This record gives sequence, structure tokens and C-alpha cells, in this order.
Amino acid sequence: MQRRKFIKKALTGLPVILLTPTILGGCSKKEDNINPSDKTVVVIGAGISGLAAAKKLTEKGFTVVVLEAQDKVGGRLRTNNTLGVAFDEGASWIHGMDGNPLTTLAQEAGMTTAETVDDQADACYDMGGVLRSPSVYTTAEATLYNILDTLMNSGNANQSFETVFNSLYPGYATDRLWQFFLSTYITFDTGDLNKVSSLLYNEGEEFGGIEKIATNGFDTIPKYLANGLNIQLNQRVSKIDYSSSKIKITHNGLEREADYVLVSVPLGVLKANSIQFTPALPIAKQTAIQKIGMNCVNKFLLTWNLPFWDNTQYIVYTPNIKDRFNYFVNVNKYNPSANALMTFAYAEYARQSETLSDAQIISEIMVHLKDIYGNGIPNPTNMVRTKWQSNENSFGAYSYTAIETEMRHFDDLAEAIDDALFFAGEHTNADYFSTAHGAYLSGIREADKIIQLL
Ligand SMILES: Cc1cc2nc3c(=O)[nH]c(=O)nc-3n(C[C@H](O)[C@H](O)[C@H](O)COP(=O)(O)OP(=O)(O)OC[C@H]3O[C@@H](n4cnc5c(N)ncnc54)[C@H](O)[C@@H]3O)c2cc1C
Repeated sequence: MQRRKFIKKALTGLPVILLTPTILGGCSKKEDNINPSDKTVVVIGAGISGLAAAKKLTEKGFTVVVLEAQDKVGGRLRTNNTLGVAFDEGASWIHGMDGNPLTTLAQEAGMTTAETVDDQADACYDMGGVLRSPSVYTTAEATLYNILDTLMNSGNANQSFETVFNSLYPGYATDRLWQFFLSTYITFDTGDLNKVSSLLYNEGEEFGGIEKIATNGFDTIPKYLANGLNIQLNQRVSKIDYSSSKIKITHNGLEREADYVLVSVPLGVLKANSIQFTPALPIAKQTAIQKIGMNCVNKFLLTWNLPFWDNTQYIVYTPNIKDRFNYFVNVNKYNPSANALMTFAYAEYARQSETLSDAQIISEIMVHLKDIYGNGIPNPTNMVRTKWQSNENSFGAYSYTAIETEMRHFDDLAEAIDDALFFAGEHTNADYFSTAHGAYLSGIREADKIIQLL
């Protein structure tokens, strides 16, 4: 699935170098003749944003320590290989290869990829296993793109996407194919339709060009970035005291000092107040933390001894229930040794799914697959799944523009405090929030800010 295909703009191929300098303006406190190795930077979080910053600062000569709560690096770039196939629990796709900094990084890191082409129209099933006509599918999809191009013109700061869409297009509200489109094109990328902003649902951008899915694991990138860095695992930061020139960081009951601190923990962690800041964060930042939404998406990988499904990249199913198991990625298509399907749950249902047992989840998925392929299909041999909402290291999947979100809120999250406390992460990137490339660029941006202080 090309996430946000509908908002891909003519920005394609814009060199990365153009994307960073605009953000550097806020740094003013310049120190004379400072040797970077005399300056200690503590980076909190070893996701792609924190690692990108730590690598750049280490290469520049700073004394850098990364504190990571988990026992491995990568954060939301996390690959589970327990079923013998690389299952990316977080990001799977590089969204647009042209001009995307991850394109080169993936090559350097040894990440193998496969192009995914949207061919859902060829295997789109209605209830009862009725194959939908590809032309009906593609016509509805084109109509949706047109609607999405203009819906924000009828949007309102206090109204959700769902309210505005349903009032303009009441006929589509109950149509199963339209429910599928809204679920996989909007809810998957952003959040619950009744919470997504009717004005800003189209914000957050991809690069242009083809989409590629990681085939040997997206975690190759963080592992590559982490090489040679000073990373301390299993270190959960609970307090940051930036009331004096040396910042005090408490982790696992220990305290350490730093000249600069880069906070790269997810928005969900900031929302949960898992880290106590002294003094409290500025009001603008607190407001932004509250107003920007945090979506939940869960992923499920199921394996079989033999494939029984269509030999297409994607299989679509349009049930009455929303936001669950309506879209299957055929892993076999890009990994011929794996007889596996990957499927998803979004937003509120994703959160609810975390309370269900594996057996209950498999049973729900099999109801859909049996409706498509018949009762004779076998049960899966195994399943692995994610629970991003209850994961204390993220409390959700990625940020989105909720009803009261304003674009300046992303900039407020990125704003440094006293040229000492810095913030990175996908949620701090107004142009590319919710993506791996957005997170990466935010880390580079913050490293540049610190380097500018020399
Ligand atoms: C299900 C899912 C699907 C996705 N699909 C895609 C996709 O296909 N393409 C794409 O481009 N993007 C996708 N994304 C988004 C992408 O994965 C993220 O935007 C990106 O990985 C975020 O990187 P980050 O550095 O901002 O945060 P993270 O990777 O979350 O890193 C933050 C780190 O901080 C650590 N941490 C948290 N609290 C503390 C603490 N108190 N002390 C110390 N450390 C702490 C965490 O353990 C984590 O390692 C997806 C995400 C999810 C969850």
C-alpha cells in the first residue's frame, strides 16, 4: 500500500540538503573555541532519530552517550525473525525512493528491498468471497483521491474528517468498498476518522518514486547507525533536570550530567509523562504534546505450510466491520520461501485487539480468509503480532493531525529549550511526521543545531 499516495506532491526528489537548513535558524548561543570532545551530549532513545543524531555528533567529535530503555536499538524499527521470516513490527516501507535519505542509508546498511506495486484491484473481495470488478475498484479509488484533494475546503477546525466526509458523501458512509478505502487510506495513515482533523488530514509527506518494502528487516538501518556508538541499553530515563547549566538525567535510579540532552522518545511517551522535566516543559510544548494525536496500528504475521491465496501483492477484503483484517500483504510475493500473510488493525480496533488472545485474533482473521477462500483452508501454523498501544516505549504507533492539531504544534515539539535541551523524533517533523524518514531527518536537524553552537 502506498501510504499517503493521495498527498504525494511535486516535492519529489527535493534534495535532503534543502530540507535541513531552514530549521537551523533558532540556534543563537555560540561558544568560542570549544572543543566538541569537551561537550557531553546525552541522547535519550536509540530509535532512528536518536541514532542519526548520535552518529553525526560522534563523528563531529562530541562525547555522546545514548540511553535506551530497551535491550536493543531501533525503537519502532523492529524486526521479529522468530518465524523464520523478517516481520517488521514497525515500519516496513520506504515511502518514496526519490530523494529519500533512507534510500542510500538502506543500501549502506545492507537492507534488501522489493518494490511493492498497488495491485489490490486484482484481488478485492466483497463478503461471500465475491470478487469485485477491478474497474469498480479503480474508479472508486480515483473518486476518493479527488474527494481528498478538496475535502479540506469544507473542513473546520472543530470537526473531524468523519463528520465532514459523511455530511458531504452520506452514500459512501455505508458502502463497504468505501469503508475499506477510508480505513486503509486514512485511518491506517492517520487515526480514528472521528478524531482526525478535517483540515489537516492530508499533511505529512512522502518522497516521490516507487515504494519499497524491507525484505530482510528494517532493523538493519538502526543496527548500522548504532555501529561504534556509545549506547547504554536497558537504561530508562525517568527525570531530566535542566534548571542549571549542567543538565541532570536520572536513569535506573542513577544520575548523570550532560551539556546537551536530546530527547528522542516517542510522542506517546511524552503524553504519558513517563519522564519528569524540571522545570516543567514550556506551555507551548505541553500544548503540542496534548493536541497532536498518536495513532495505533497493529500488525499480524501468519504462516502456513503452503499458500492458498491469490498470487498478488495485496489481497483486499471489504467486510462490514471496520479497521481490522481487511488488507493482506502477500509476503510470499517478495520472499518466495515464506508462506505468510501480513495483516493489520487500525486505531480504536487496534487498541482493542491488544486485549484479545492469539486464538481470538487468529479466529477473527480466519473468518475473513474463509469467507474469501472457503472453509477448507487450513489454520495458520503460527502467528506473531504487535501491541503498540500497551508498549511503554511508545504508547502507540505514530503521530497524526487530530481535530485540534495545528501544524505549528510540530514545530513547537521541535523547539529547543535554552540551547541545551533538544527534541527529535517523527512527531517533531512538520513535513514528514509519522514516518521513518521524518524521524531520521529530525535527528540530523537536531545534531546540526548542536554543532552550530560550537
Ligand atoms: C506499526 C507501524 C508501522 C509503521 N510503518 C511505517 C512505514 O511503513 N514506513 C515509515 O516510513 N514509517 C513507518 N512507521 C513509523 C516509523 O516506524 C517511525 O516514525 C520511526 O521509526 C520513529 O523513530 P523515532 O526515532 O522517532 O522513535 P522510536 O523509534 O520510537 O525511538 C524512540 C526510542 O526511545 C526509547 N525510549 C522510550 N522511552 C524511553 C525512556 N524513558 N528512556 C530511554 N529510552 C526511551 C524507545 O525504546 C525507542 O527505542 C511505522 C510505525 C509503526 C509503529
